[in-house]
Amino acid sequence: MTDCIFCKIAAGEVPSQKVFEDDSVVAFRDLSPKAPQHVLIVPKKHIANVAQFQAEDKDLAAHIFVDVVPKLAKELKLDGGFRLVINTGDDGGQTVNHLHVHLLGGRKMTWPPG
Ligand code: AMP
Repeated sequence: MTDCIFCKIAAGEVPSQKVFEDDSVVAFRDLSPKAPQHVLIVPKKHIANVAQFQAEDKDLAAHIFVDVVPKLAKELKLDGGFRLVINTGDDGGQTVNHLHVHLLGGRKMTWPPG
């Protein structure tokens, strides 16, 4: 999508601090980190949010959670645990309308998040 910041980051048109990239996914550090480790895991395909997942996205969704999350958690040394957040839509606090999974760690998380 032409006017999407995360599409531009995925395409390398906007700089980011990438920590992972393969054919279908990119992960980079959040500009405004909420924890010592705060990475955004983003599919390269423009999907607005999880409510817009299609049947054809099943492999992509599995890849993110089965392959990418555990790999990054290990590389970032989040052995004590971490939090995944997927803000979805206005009420969910989503500000960038390109699906992304926040991977947060490196400190004790509180609940509820507020
Ligand atoms: P959300 O509120 O779930 O949509 O989260 C969007 C996140 O994207 C926020 O935590 C922002 O700090 C982050 N963000 C926005 N623009 C950039 C960017 N260019 N590079 C890295 N992170 C960004």
